Amino acid sequence: MKIPQKLLRMQPYDPTEDRYKIKLDANESAFLPSEDISREIQEAMAKVALHRYPDPNVSNLRKKAAALFGVQMENLVVGNGSDELISVILNSFSNRGDRLMVLLPDFSMYAFYAGLAEMELSVACKDEEMEITAEHIIEAAQKEKPDILMFSNPCNPTGRGLKKEDMLRVISSVDCLVVADEAYMDFFGESILPESCRFENLIVLRTCSKAFGLAAARLGFAIGHPSLIGEINKARSPFNINAFSQAAGEVLLAHPLELKRSLERILAAKEALFEQLQPVCKQYPELVELRSSVTNFVIIKSKYAKQIYEALLKQSICVRCFNDFLRITSGTMTENRIFTETFSAILERMAN
Ligand SMILES: *Cc1c(COP(=O)(O)O)cnc(C)c1O
Repeated sequence: MKIPQKLLRMQPYDPTEDRYKIKLDANESAFLPSEDISREIQEAMAKVALHRYPDPNVSNLRKKAAALFGVQMENLVVGNGSDELISVILNSFSNRGDRLMVLLPDFSMYAFYAGLAEMELSVACKDEEMEITAEHIIEAAQKEKPDILMFSNPCNPTGRGLKKEDMLRVISSVDCLVVADEAYMDFFGESILPESCRFENLIVLRTCSKAFGLAAARLGFAIGHPSLIGEINKARSPFNINAFSQAAGEVLLAHPLELKRSLERILAAKEALFEQLQPVCKQYPELVELRSSVTNFVIIKSKYAKQIYEALLKQSICVRCFNDFLRITSGTMTENRIFTETFSAILERMAN
């Protein structure tokens, strides 16, 4: 037998293991749900009928998610993480050789699944400051004529976000399907969700893994016009959401106040991290430059990013490194303080 080229040329996705003491590399929430909610989730999971398949329509969870996002149930489908939805969309909304346009740098899974779907990539590059304007995106799309345009807003890994009106301008100016990955939108508050269902070329992705603090359950949502959502629903595997995750998600999404608290807690820790890092970075302007970010992580630009990354690993602190940047997920207040102290000591050593 022969293993196909599209597989052979792929690099395996390489998530970091648990062996680091402080894990600030994957953008999850650093906080467990409140005790009350955790208990309610445990109880709901204990009631799962182990010998039965889960609800294939994910009805209860969809109902709660639709209410939360202000859409109808027919506007929403659930995925095993938004990751699965990215894979299903790219594989089912394309034929071999169709074109996916990405804006680089961006979430690596878009190109990853496009490779498996045997799509061609069109790339629009962000500038040196990691920015890209709506005009630049529209111009690139009109030139390249992709079949699908997919990008994260706010962007992982750059931490930058496009405002709602810019996003709407992009969607109404291009002919192709637009997939707006809003994994971090709770932190930014510029969602196009309220407008999303009137477009016939738009799918919005949301997730429980970031602001909602439920990464373990792997729950993501695709939201949009029923004509598109119905197609994703056909293409997903019938029991894609296991019964435990459905149970956990149903409890969590029924408590909007808990979600609000979770978001506020993450944002407060992130603001604190940013403020602690400001004086440190100002002290070593020739080494590092702190960037603002509208997400739950902070970005530091440095010619020595790789070197700093490795020095942090030696202290059992794991962050992400890309090009000349470090991406640091905000942890708990304590983790953030330890990070700042360690980082500061590394810079001091480098400066001498
Ligand atoms: C984390 C992340 C996701 C993945 O979310 P899951 O729902 O956990 O699969 C999707 N898109 C971006 C940009 C992310 O950073």
